[in-house]
Amino acid sequence: MQSFDVVIVGSGHGGAQAAIALRQNGFEGSVAIVSKDTVPPYERPPLSKEYLAREKPFERILLRPVEFWKDRSIELVLGEEVTAIDAKQKTVQLSGRGPMRFGDLIWAAGGSPRRLTCDGAGLAGIHAMRGKDDADKVMAELDAGARRIVLIGAGYIGLEAAAVLSKLGCEVVLLEALDRVLSRVAGKELSQFLEAEHRSHGIDLRLNCEVHSLEGRNGRVTGVRLGDGEVVQCDLVIVGIGIVPAIGPLAEVGADVSGGVVVDEFCRTSLPCIYAIGDCAVQTSPFAQGERIRIESVQNAADMGTCVARAICGKPEPYAATPWFWSNQFDLKLQTVGISRGYDATVIRGDPATRSFSIVYLRSGKVIALDCINSAKDYVQGRKLVEAGNLISPSDLADSSIPLKELLARSVKTLSKELH
Ligand SMILES: Cc1cc2nc3c(=O)[nH]c(=O)nc-3n(C[C@H](O)[C@H](O)[C@H](O)COP(=O)(O)OP(=O)(O)OC[C@H]3O[C@@H](n4cnc5c(N)ncnc54)[C@H](O)[C@@H]3O)c2cc1C
Repeated sequence: MQSFDVVIVGSGHGGAQAAIALRQNGFEGSVAIVSKDTVPPYERPPLSKEYLAREKPFERILLRPVEFWKDRSIELVLGEEVTAIDAKQKTVQLSGRGPMRFGDLIWAAGGSPRRLTCDGAGLAGIHAMRGKDDADKVMAELDAGARRIVLIGAGYIGLEAAAVLSKLGCEVVLLEALDRVLSRVAGKELSQFLEAEHRSHGIDLRLNCEVHSLEGRNGRVTGVRLGDGEVVQCDLVIVGIGIVPAIGPLAEVGADVSGGVVVDEFCRTSLPCIYAIGDCAVQTSPFAQGERIRIESVQNAADMGTCVARAICGKPEPYAATPWFWSNQFDLKLQTVGISRGYDATVIRGDPATRSFSIVYLRSGKVIALDCINSAKDYVQGRKLVEAGNLISPSDLADSSIPLKELLARSVKTLSKELH
């Protein structure tokens, strides 16, 4: 039986970074990354952005050059699914190769795209947008002449794909079940701004829109029937309605799970020598009022990867990274810092009409998050406000002529005066 000191399940942002950080922290033991992916570790964000737009070929979205892994003695075991874990024997069962022994196991399996369950959901021409293979299938359909696209779900992936596809000259209908886009992760100001942007670029965005079923001919999708009976004709459907965390084998072996694998501040699961990181992990966050949350972002997956590597190398440091995220749509660069959930007030800095502004989220007078649109300075300086957690006056925040770093300096002065 093959045996590795560390087995990492998943070659996404989390798994890859965990392996890199192990070596950076001087780990000399054997390391394997086992992944369902058949290609070396790559970035997922470009799939709905530059890769779909054909602005970046696959080689340019690899996380590291192919030789990197070999040079660092990190064994890539690709095209293999881990189907079971034996926590006592410390082995994982691989779909093709049989069992593999581990000293420590890092579960970095991300999630699989949530599928539609309505009639017609199994027709050809319905795609997810999670992996390279998904994007490749969509691109092949475009090459074959698909032009009328229905996107189901107006989260980040749906919005980004809609922006790219409309730029490529497709007719895009974007369907959202709720009353605004990004309702799970952003305030209504950002939703309204992005809704207007998408509409102004010719995207037919429909809110409060129920998908009743998918219609087809000869086994291939031809339209989406809505709750009100209308059928939107299309050549292709892309479904972006979130992910289901990939936690099956861990749950089966008795790990504590609750909407993901529950981990502590060192990314340890409830099972000895088994860690979990990235999109599949649930952790208490000081940025979410101490609630347990599951974050889907490159930053979180990569920083958890570093955290776990340090723990394995005997240099544990509790996970404390500030959450950040980005999204590109048309010529808009959105940068988010902090977690807006639980906010009780918002402040707009700058004029949305200029397409360069920020939305500041406050809770009990403290800045907890910012969404910055084409406003990199606010993003960089706002991060410090989120980390400081000081009280900042909303009217000062609204004055975009005052740099955020100045507001931070003022608040620190006030705080130190109060303390003395
Ligand atoms: C289209 C798209 C655009 C995105 N855009 C952004 C963005 O702009 N900014 C941002 O911050 N985030 C973005 N994200 C989110 C970000 O990519 C994820 O949060 C990140 O990839 C999570 O990393 P991960 O390692 O946890 O999981 P993943 O990257 O999903 O990797 C999981 C890995 O596990 C493997 N795997 C799963 N189950 C098994 C198993 N049983 N056995 C073996 N291998 C298994 C998978 O094949 C995969 O290699 C985007 C995601 C997508 C899909």
